[in-house]
Amino acid sequence: ETIMAIAKQHGFNFESVQLNNFAHLTVLTKKTYHKPADLTGGTPLVELTAFELPAGVRLFAKLEMYNLGGSVKDRLGRHLIDEAVRRGDISTGEVVEATAGNTGIGLALACLAHGLKLRLYVPEKFSIEKQAIMRALGAELIMTATADGMLGARAAAAADAKRTGAYYTNQFESSANPASYDKLANELTAELGEVAMIVAGAGSGGTFTGLAERLKPRGARTVVVEPVGSILNGGDSGSHRTEGIGVEVWPKFMTRELIDAIETITDDAAFDAVKKLARREGLLVGSSSGAALAAALNQAPYVQGNIVVIFPDASDRYLSQHIYD
Ligand code: PMP
Repeated sequence: ETIMAIAKQHGFNFESVQLNNFAHLTVLTKKTYHKPADLTGGTPLVELTAFELPAGVRLFAKLEMYNLGGSVKDRLGRHLIDEAVRRGDISTGEVVEATAGNTGIGLALACLAHGLKLRLYVPEKFSIEKQAIMRALGAELIMTATADGMLGARAAAAADAKRTGAYYTNQFESSANPASYDKLANELTAELGEVAMIVAGAGSGGTFTGLAERLKPRGARTVVVEPVGSILNGGDSGSHRTEGIGVEVWPKFMTRELIDAIETITDDAAFDAVKKLARREGLLVGSSSGAALAAALNQAPYVQGNIVVIFPDASDRYLSQHIYD
């Protein structure tokens, strides 16, 4: 009873499970969270069983849409801002970044928590839903030309920081980016024990690098996923519909030794996987998750054991992009 009273004070609930006629088990269940910002990380891991897999292979998806801002990049926003505040680096109270949207949402949440102003440089082509969410969270958006790509948005953010003295989080070059995913790697090993293969898309390359740095030494095969139109596999930079992944210049922190395989996925394959995930599993995910699933299925014959695929966000922020059409 004492233990239950203390646990209750800390927001836990209880469930009683009858084991047999003589015994029951009291299980500590859901925690009640005391502020929304605490809803970062600790996302669900779910097994996918509706896709054909080789014998001896199980496929698990990490559902990052369950973060407060709806994507894996909440982990990054929180880590980049908490660390910069701790170091005293944000002297003007202003932060700038270039983003396709999810990083902007993660940063906006973190800036709210610290009372900071946020200016974001966003290429026009990215979804209007993500723009609306960034604005709803108090960020100022400056749209950059689609033709200038992410590199154009990055140059504009860097110039802003130089001009105004605002703090540039610089997700594309900062080693704090991959370090934001320590906890994600720990969550996977805590839940599964052994991870035979990790599959993650690359936009900035932070998620893949962070996970590969921690899981490869433990024996995982590491698979990075890009759309056709991204340069990791030696292809030319070009346009693609798959949103959130795709690299224009090789990320500084992503060393080649971390990569066992690069999967370059067509838009058609990514969107086909998105539709199958909806119809077969009831999972509503963005196109980068579809690309990651397609890559995981291609790579499944190379391992035995648990495959983990990262699903970075949900499909509802891409309905205007006709994700299911
Ligand atoms: N998927 C989506 C939907 C994203 O927004 C991002 C980040 N741009 C990624 C995947 C890739 O993550 P990272 O930047 O860590 O490579």
